[in-house]
Amino acid sequence: MLDFDTAQSLLLQAAPAADTVETVGLHQAPGRVLAQDIRAVFDSPPADNSAMDGYAVRHAALDTHTRYAIQQRCFAGEAPQALQPGKVIRLYTGSVMPDGADTVIMQEDAREDGDVVQFTSLPAKGSHIRFRGEDVRGDSLLLPRGTHLGAGEIALLASQGLARLPVFPALRIGVLTTGDELVAPGQPREDHQIYNSNGPMLAALAQDMGVSHVRIAHAADKLGDIVDAFKALLVDCDLILSVGGVSVGDKDLVKPAIESLGATIDLWKVNMKPGRPVALARLDDTPIVCLPGNPVSAFVVFGLLVSPLIRRMQGSKTPLPPVAYGRLRTMRRVGGPREDFIRVQIRNTPDGQAELIPHADQGSAIINSLSWADGLARIPPDSQVIDGDTVAVYPFAHWLRA
Ligand code: AMP
Ligand code: MG
Repeated sequence: MLDFDTAQSLLLQAAPAADTVETVGLHQAPGRVLAQDIRAVFDSPPADNSAMDGYAVRHAALDTHTRYAIQQRCFAGEAPQALQPGKVIRLYTGSVMPDGADTVIMQEDAREDGDVVQFTSLPAKGSHIRFRGEDVRGDSLLLPRGTHLGAGEIALLASQGLARLPVFPALRIGVLTTGDELVAPGQPREDHQIYNSNGPMLAALAQDMGVSHVRIAHAADKLGDIVDAFKALLVDCDLILSVGGVSVGDKDLVKPAIESLGATIDLWKVNMKPGRPVALARLDDTPIVCLPGNPVSAFVVFGLLVSPLIRRMQGSKTPLPPVAYGRLRTMRRVGGPREDFIRVQIRNTPDGQAELIPHADQGSAIINSLSWADGLARIPPDSQVIDGDTVAVYPFAHWLRA
């Protein structure tokens, strides 16, 4: 029996971290991971500029009695003149500060009359200026290798004028579902059949992690079909996830199928609920992770054990997202011999401590709990957790994202 943390770190090592570099345009970059450190190219903003619509002035030469001549109206994108003594320059948010000016007076504190202006109050010297380099210093480390590129990172890279970025290759994932009882959604179904929910679910989980290449295959519970499906997925996938058929029942043919392809397979009994069994194999350098067939088990194993491996293969420098903590709200003692991961809603409370509300039905076939929950609370093995106890929680917002 493997404990949960050991299983998680073993699975994290199941494939080498990404190391090939390719170059993509800024617009192709969201969801990808930086393959090199990116240094700033220049100070940003590149010049002192106004944070307000107002007037550029020399602070020392200023009072509220004088009417000052407006020397220039300088819009954002225009070059300012050097400020002449006794005058001011009208400017707008983003206008570059003129030489000789050190302060901006906002237009709300000014009365403009034709080409002259009088100020009603004076701000402190240096007010309302965004200074050169206050956002980014030229040649500082902008973003390190291994950074997952989301909107904030794209904005930062774009602000430095970077149009082509070194990233790791996009990960390609294959999903193999198995089971004679399964019918694809959209097809007619007999009473003894159920719809294949794991296939679309795992594809969606992979897509939520920024994986756009997901190939789905389904095989009946026949050795030859499973072997053929694995062979087809091996052609263009970097990681294969199979689901179901990996226990020790008569129809559990995934293990023999992988073995007949010449690979060894480690079947793990992970001491977690829901979860076991989980298996790991490698075929021609491609890792294959075999997930349990129950939809909730497959979801939980993906989120807690497979997602770190995916992040590592994508090149992320932080394959293990943060774990949070909260107070469990429960009517009964919870905890058993296995590590329990229970589906909870995470509620924020005014005192700043999260409360974790368990779903009423923690069965591993209760698919409706997956859309209801927003995290998995961790109940250590052999513990007796009661209402109000603080436990670890794995928020989907972190664990099911890139
Ligand atoms: P297995 O490990 O193949 O015995 O599957 C365990 C349970 O999960 C059985 O009740 C299966 O019907 C169910 N199951 C397996 N694969 C899927 C799937 N792709 N979609 C929905 N349920 C599944
Ligand atoms: Mg099956």
